Amino acid sequence: MGKDSVVDNSYDIRKLIHDQVNLPSPPAIAVRILKTVQDEESSLQDLEKIIAADPALTGKMLRIANSAFYSLPCEVTNVGRALSILGTNVIKNIALSFVIAGNLRGEPELYFNFDYFWKRSVTAAVAAELVMALLREKDEDIFVIALLMDIGVLTMYLTKGQEYVDTLRESRDAGRQLIFTEQKKYRFDHQQLGTVLLESWGIPSTITEPLRYHHEPLKAPEKYRRAAMTLHVANLLSVVYSDTLTARDVKLLEEKMEEYFNIPIDRTRELLDDVAQKSVDILKIFELDPGEMKPYSLMLQEANDELGKLNLSYEQLVLELKQSKEKAERFAGELQKANSHLEQLAFRDGLTHLYNHRYFQETLDREILRAGSEALDLSILIFDIDYFKKVNDTYGHPAGDLVLINLAETFLRALRPTDIIARYGGEEFAVILPETNLAGMKVFAERLRRSAAALETVVQEQLIQVTISCGGAHLRPGESFSKQDLIDTADRGLYRSKHSGRNRLTILPVEPLSRDQQVA
Ligand code: GH3
Ligand code: MG
Ligand code: MG
Repeated sequence: MGKDSVVDNSYDIRKLIHDQVNLPSPPAIAVRILKTVQDEESSLQDLEKIIAADPALTGKMLRIANSAFYSLPCEVTNVGRALSILGTNVIKNIALSFVIAGNLRGEPELYFNFDYFWKRSVTAAVAAELVMALLREKDEDIFVIALLMDIGVLTMYLTKGQEYVDTLRESRDAGRQLIFTEQKKYRFDHQQLGTVLLESWGIPSTITEPLRYHHEPLKAPEKYRRAAMTLHVANLLSVVYSDTLTARDVKLLEEKMEEYFNIPIDRTRELLDDVAQKSVDILKIFELDPGEMKPYSLMLQEANDELGKLNLSYEQLVLELKQSKEKAERFAGELQKANSHLEQLAFRDGLTHLYNHRYFQETLDREILRAGSEALDLSILIFDIDYFKKVNDTYGHPAGDLVLINLAETFLRALRPTDIIARYGGEEFAVILPETNLAGMKVFAERLRRSAAALETVVQEQLIQVTISCGGAHLRPGESFSKQDLIDTADRGLYRSKHSGRNRLTILPVEPLSRDQQVA
């Protein structure tokens, strides 16, 4: 071996391994194949004879030679033809792959499934081959190296059984690379063990050396580095199709493909799908159940579909929330309507929709307080329709109602927004005029009187016109009189208007009730 030999501590490692591990003997047919290939005196026919002597092996050889894997121009029907087309080395590697993978099998045990192990190994082998194809490189050994790269794991299990299963679990639980857990526990790892085992079987260093570095290819001597890097990513590719897949694995694969080979993510994704598709046939030839080898993109799509379902239900949730919010808002709107309806009932008159007597009283209380505290003018008017009884008698009660309604509308139009008009009684109205002095009140009262007189209500082609008599009261800034004083004064004014000919306004000075009573 040259100076770049990796086995600088090979003796120690070998001793460690031999002390702790029972290395399985190689399958007899593998030994014969390897010997024949190495023997310079042997011919192609000798290798052909060994393989042909095993019909099962021959069948597998031909199937794989004719698989999409090698895409031969025409079907190969015998080992000799396969040998001449694919070459001794390729045929030797295929044969070794079948022999070793077929030999180191066993019934699935509780914690170790041989079929599962070989399924991953074959997938890794297919992956390694596809990586090489992607790189447009050629390495006839890569399939068998990848296939055997974890043979150390298998050997450890065969030797240590449950204890090694515990090691596998410890490593996984700690989120550590298996080789580090192994190194700590046994002072060697499955890479070294695999290399030592295959060396002992007479397998050439072109196979065993890249294998030694499949988890740490950058440590490999340059000669084997490319192959070791291929093994590393092939291993990661096979993990994607194993049930130990984690989200980190694909990311790591993508990173390594980029780092080692400058392969962009989208190409790696294509490669991933390719591995699944190509592995199915090869697994069958190895008599391994491919199970569900779902291409990664399909896995992603399904995951996205699942996610989509989640999103949908999230959207539905949002929609429902929105709907119930709208419902609540609608309800709130209805409530508001109901409230304002109640308010209407409480403060408004049903016929004219003007404020009612109660509202007038309460508002006048507030306005008197405000005028007192802010030293403002305040005026009120009370008016009554003249001879209204006659309207009812002549045109009927409904016509009288219509007149009341029309008058209310007319008064509302004459009002400022700050003025409050109420239906005070049957055909009596009252107005609060905040911040309005005597002159203002007079002007406003006149406007009301004139507009009432001018209003024509048509009932059954008959014109109805009415007049109003009005009494006003004015509170000067700083004056302090009670509400009742104001109302009584306005009432007396109204009374006087009635008695002095109707259709007029009378404003009397506000006087306390006692004096009024004296006057009366
Ligand atoms: P004056 O006030 O000018 O002295 O004469 P008047 O005819 O208006 O006299 P009074 O106040 O005695 O009569 C008021 C009438 O108004 C009695 C009633 O039938 C009528 N009235 C009161 N409320 C309503 C109402 O809501 N609708 C109708 N149609 N008439 C009403
Ligand atoms: Mg009247
Ligand atoms: Mg009246």
